Amino acid sequence: MTARLSIAIIGGGIGGLFAANALLARGLRVTVYEQAPAIGETGAGVFVTPNAVRHLERVGLGGAVERLGARVGPESAYFHHDGAHIAPVQVTDAAGWNACFGMHRADYVEFLAAHLPSDTLRTGHHAVGFEQTADIARVSFANGAVAEADVVIGADGIHSELRPHVFPPSKPVFHGTIAYRGLVPRERLPHWPLDRWQMWAGPAKHFLVFPVRGGDMVNYVGFVPADEQMKESWSAPGDPDVLRREFDGWDARVGQVLEQVDRTYRWALYDREPLPTWTRGRLSLLGDAAHPMLPHLGQGANQAIEDGMALATILARADAASAPACLLAYERLRRERVAEVQLGARKHGLRVDSRVEDLRKRDADLVAHAEFRKQLYSYDVVTHAEHAVNAAPPTSPGQPSSPFR
Ligand SMILES: Cc1cc2nc3c(=O)[nH]c(=O)nc-3n(C[C@H](O)[C@H](O)[C@H](O)COP(=O)(O)OP(=O)(O)OC[C@H]3O[C@@H](n4cnc5c(N)ncnc54)[C@H](O)[C@@H]3O)c2cc1C
Repeated sequence: MTARLSIAIIGGGIGGLFAANALLARGLRVTVYEQAPAIGETGAGVFVTPNAVRHLERVGLGGAVERLGARVGPESAYFHHDGAHIAPVQVTDAAGWNACFGMHRADYVEFLAAHLPSDTLRTGHHAVGFEQTADIARVSFANGAVAEADVVIGADGIHSELRPHVFPPSKPVFHGTIAYRGLVPRERLPHWPLDRWQMWAGPAKHFLVFPVRGGDMVNYVGFVPADEQMKESWSAPGDPDVLRREFDGWDARVGQVLEQVDRTYRWALYDREPLPTWTRGRLSLLGDAAHPMLPHLGQGANQAIEDGMALATILARADAASAPACLLAYERLRRERVAEVQLGARKHGLRVDSRVEDLRKRDADLVAHAEFRKQLYSYDVVTHAEHAVNAAPPTSPGQPSSPFR
């Protein structure tokens, strides 16, 4: 019997931790190396959608999503900045399955980490070097440790240390926008409806609110144009009064949330052009390391979950010799879909910032956008990964066998 494939994942964010869960569920040997001394996340929300929830359920985390998320329903909507209704927001897949949840980021990484056997996760490991031979991949860490594995997955975020080992270094693209993010306890907004995702689209700005933690907190994000100084600070504490002024005169509901903001953080919004390749030999990328995207479709983390599920489905049939070909099959499966979402996020950002010529057409586009979401949410990456496994071409000319065992 061939030895089980060993995989080292660099980065214990949502992407790396989910991939570890998915690979373990397929019986593979996995270790996650995270640079921080402990797993944790910022005080902000993340929207989890059906195309990711179906995989969280598959690895046994459906209960955690139900318990710690806040499901939103059909009252979800887009509004003009003055409060006039524009369009409903799609919250189900094509089969009518409603699995859209607001989630506190800290809750998300905690339950992903808690579901792993304790020896799977090594914190305090900052990856600083990578090398590989035909037979093995090796990662070195700032603390002097070295990890060897059949496969290394760079899940180390937008500033990935491992990406330059796959593709020459490039600069992320700044989009002239920053996001102010934070959470307000439910008791400070006693009349706020907790069953919906709501967005107000105004001139060059938009404001988003959805519940997290079973409705115990309300998450807000205010997207505003950024000056050069803000561009420099990747993520930093923001001034609640400056945030309030940005949305002065908007719908009273936006004001109600902002009145309760004591603390806020701001993020400069970057993405990258889609990479032409994610893989080199035994190293491949996943999540923001492979495809950082603007948050306007709320898909960065959801696509990272799809990546992890695709990777696990494909590597489950690999052995040490076939692993590089299997990583290429994973990349082929993911790159096109993710590039579409990356570019779609840019386009949707222009819509909700009203950076369009014809606002009436924009409103019609927001109504039609529901169909795009339905398709996005209905996609099941496992079906596609299994198809890729079954349809895999020979690894090299004259070699009849598939890379998958
Ligand atoms: C304003 C905003 C709102 C968003 N809203 C949503 C949303 O609603 N839905 C959604 O799906 N996505 C959303 N996103 C995107 C989402 O946050 C990211 O796509 C997602 O967190 C990426 O996960 P990741 O695990 O790939 O990377 P990260 O979360 O960046 O995790 C990378 C991990 O790697 C570690 N690391 C880095 N370098 C090293 C190293 N050298 N060695 C070891 N460890 C290392 C880091 O410490 C970190 O833990 C939003 C983003 C922003 C900015």
